[in-house]
Amino acid sequence: MYDLIVVGAGPGGYESAIHAAKMGKKVMLIEKEKLGGTCLNVGCIPAKTFLRSSKIYGECKEAAAFGVKLNGLEFDIPAVVERKNRVVATLNNGVKGLLKKAGVEVITGYGRLALRNTVEVGDTRYEAANILIATGSRPMVPPIPGIENTLNSDTVFNLQVVPKSIAIVGGGYIGLEFACFFREIGSEVQVFEMMPDIAAGADGEIVSRMLRILTQKGIQFHLAAKVLRIEGHTLHFVGQEGKESSVEAEYILNSTGRRANVEDLGLEKLGVDFTPRGIKTSDQGKSSVPGIWACGDVTGRRMLAHAATREGFVAVNNMFGHKDRIRYTALPAVVYTHPEVSMVGRTEEELKSAGIKYKKSSVPMAMAGRYLVEHEDPTGFVKVLCGAEFGEILGVHAIGDASSEFIIAAAAMVETEMNAARASELVFPHPTVSEALKEAIAGIH
Ligand code: FAD
Repeated sequence: MYDLIVVGAGPGGYESAIHAAKMGKKVMLIEKEKLGGTCLNVGCIPAKTFLRSSKIYGECKEAAAFGVKLNGLEFDIPAVVERKNRVVATLNNGVKGLLKKAGVEVITGYGRLALRNTVEVGDTRYEAANILIATGSRPMVPPIPGIENTLNSDTVFNLQVVPKSIAIVGGGYIGLEFACFFREIGSEVQVFEMMPDIAAGADGEIVSRMLRILTQKGIQFHLAAKVLRIEGHTLHFVGQEGKESSVEAEYILNSTGRRANVEDLGLEKLGVDFTPRGIKTSDQGKSSVPGIWACGDVTGRRMLAHAATREGFVAVNNMFGHKDRIRYTALPAVVYTHPEVSMVGRTEEELKSAGIKYKKSSVPMAMAGRYLVEHEDPTGFVKVLCGAEFGEILGVHAIGDASSEFIIAAAAMVETEMNAARASELVFPHPTVSEALKEAIAGIH
């Protein structure tokens, strides 16, 4: 009898298994494919290694502006894929080592709930006091004829050539990161987004700036565009003006979102409340059935790796008697486009629609000397939103490189409901891009 069986070894599952084992619990982790899940194998890490290479390539093209002359530049995509594989393998081994060190028993196979306290893998049944479902998600296949034959975020990482042109269906965070990558390495890129804006959920002002910068880089956006069907290399769509058109592209990438892995887990049989969007959970990680918990993409709440991990820790803490809950309002998110977009807390649109009175302060990132040192074309800015009466920091939104590294400071402010006066007493290291955040906070009166 185990204290905990975790199904799925992504950042939600494997980190939670280690966390519980470190509490002295007897833990089993079941994974059908590779340790590290989507994030490590076909998500965050592969995407960031690709983006790192394209950024270096892009910077080399602009090197002359920094006084560095280069001759003969080539983007060697097989070498980029090879490096990505090396990085993933190193991290895979790291995860394996951490699990071993913590004493987590790892089983390879497909896990399915048989009874309330029992998971079956093939013909073998294992019993546990608690079961944590962390089966993640997979690329969505929307009802667009022909889309099943296109690339998706699982298959795109194996490309061996730089596409002459690529059409990306979906202007969410993942689609935008791929759009930047391909544009930077020289592909003609078109993005088709059904909504009137890209990067749904991000602050409106940041989205407008992002759209402007990415358009200037040569990415072509079709907003409020409905993709009708895909025939080979031809994508048919209805544009904003309601007219049917088509475009040709060497590759088409489906980046329309992700779908929770809720099927074939035995959830119905046990009466676990779920929809195709995910398993319903409380802020403590509980499902509707006692002893069954869920975390990460399978809950459909915030499809981010660090959200998966935190949700898993919260579930583990609660199942072993330590009260805990996740506060989604203080959860940071980053879009690793070039430039990066980083955010935490409420957007201006959310504050307005909730009728919350607020004060705001925006500053150009170029107010931080370090940012100016590193950018020839400074376009970034930071925006801080505070409650009108008490000045508590409600949201921070930034566009500009290195913002991913300081957004955690802003998250700490939101999490602790720090007010702007208190935050302005914090000392920021000089010279860092984070000083732009300090200036934005100082601008709140
Ligand atoms: P997953 O990582 O999906 O892991 C679930 C695991 O469960 C998988 O290994 C799967 O094989 C296994 N499994 C499923 N069913 C079973 C079963 N029945 N039995 C046994 N095993 C099973 N997030 C960020 O925070 N930052 C980023 O920069 C970022 N970039 C991304 C880029 C891309 C291209 C993509 C696709 C995603 C990105 N994400 C990013 C999202 C992130 O990858 C996910 O939010 C995260 O992986 C979710 O973790 P998880 O543990 O819930 O599930």
